[in-house]
Amino acid sequence: MPKRFSASDYIEGILAGNRVRLSQAITLVESTLPSDQELAQQVLDAVLPHAGHSVRVGITGVPGVGKSTFIEALGLHLVREQGHRLAVLAVDPTSQRSGGSILGDKTRMNELAFHPQAFIRPSPAGRSLGGVTRSTREALLLCEAAGHDVIFVETVGVGQSETAVHGMVDFFLLLMLAGAGDELQGIKKGIMEMADAISITKADQGNELAARRARREYQNALHLYPLAPSGWVPEVTVSSALTGQGVPTVWEIITRYVQQTQESGYFGQRRQEQNMHWLHETIRQNLETQFYQRPAVREQLAAVEQAVREGRKSAFGAAGELLGL
Ligand code: GDP
Repeated sequence: MPKRFSASDYIEGILAGNRVRLSQAITLVESTLPSDQELAQQVLDAVLPHAGHSVRVGITGVPGVGKSTFIEALGLHLVREQGHRLAVLAVDPTSQRSGGSILGDKTRMNELAFHPQAFIRPSPAGRSLGGVTRSTREALLLCEAAGHDVIFVETVGVGQSETAVHGMVDFFLLLMLAGAGDELQGIKKGIMEMADAISITKADQGNELAARRARREYQNALHLYPLAPSGWVPEVTVSSALTGQGVPTVWEIITRYVQQTQESGYFGQRRQEQNMHWLHETIRQNLETQFYQRPAVREQLAAVEQAVREGRKSAFGAAGELLGL
């Protein structure tokens, strides 16, 4: 049983940039225990005025595209050469503590993980997408309050987690391989549409030409999409995390995006919209949790389900009955 800290222990520790306390506070927001959640909310409310001052970047791509290696390379560039304080979080609803979750294996980001200006946190395990998304969003706010001015949120490019990550970041980066004919590599069209930039990875060791060709193809493909509400035209680059070539360019693009959207007002407007979304999402999640935890509902749910299954009750009528309990 870990030592129990008070809200002010967490708050003071986080605001002082204490990484251990930050880490413990994230464990608290990930906890499903009602007493932990209450404490977590106190901590979040207190540190919230200190959050928000970061550039939030979502990074996605299929397993093997080189996300970890890229994040290590770009992350080291940011902490070493640009003096940033970086936090790397992940949204991976399939991850298990025992399995090979993204970021779970910190050895893949060895140097970055041990850099004093970097903070790396794997995805919470064994939770639904909604649960993971919520605690990652809260972890993001805690990291900002602890002084991290760049936040990466990594996710795997295979499912709905991209949409969830897109909803909590300012900029969405898609990493792609130079595909031998396989143009979209299982990346859904919707994900391409969310991208503010695409970087073709592994442009090294004889793969440079193919990478540049892929770059042109994706650039052409992106031109077919309507202009995004941000007014930003997505950019496609080639990079090699191995040699470092093209890695700083991605950060230059992100910086340009932030500047442009801050000037146009889109940056702040989008954050407000995201906050509204989170307000209603949290209400919805909390109401749902409260509903299913009600003793009367827990008692009667199975019987009502059975009645609906056998056609003795309509789903609407049964739902009304349960909601009225
Ligand atoms: P992830 O699953 O997307 O996180 O991908 P990883 O970062 O684990 O990389 C998958 C594989 O690609 C590993 O074997 C890496 O060594 C390799 N890799 C990653 N980046 C590069 C790169 O820039 N160039 C080359 N040649 N290989 C790379």
